[in-house]
Amino acid sequence: MTDPAGRLAALRTETLDLIEALARRLDGIIESATYTTNDDEHDPDGVTAFERAQVAGLLEQARADLRALDAARERLDNDAYGTCLRCGRPITAERLDALPATTTCIRCADRR
Ligand SMILES: [Zn+2]
Repeated sequence: MTDPAGRLAALRTETLDLIEALARRLDGIIESATYTTNDDEHDPDGVTAFERAQVAGLLEQARADLRALDAARERLDNDAYGTCLRCGRPITAERLDALPATTTCIRCADRR
């Protein structure tokens, strides 16, 4: 694994951008819902509510990713990065490459 700190920093920037974009989209949905008059015939709120829940879910996931990246960065600073939090064994480079913020080795992840 080359330069995990740089990798984590790049992912963090990406995730922050995503959070900002999703938050803006969610604001837009809420705003358009506010200005939509209650029209039961066409029921535009049904679509809006669905989209809103979907974007809110993505936003929640992105925020969780950000927390995981920050935690990974902390482990890196404490020389604990790349060690499985469950069994204490090293996490393979391939797994860290695919999931830089992971806290468990492939064995422990499979056992979940
Ligand atoms: Zn493990």
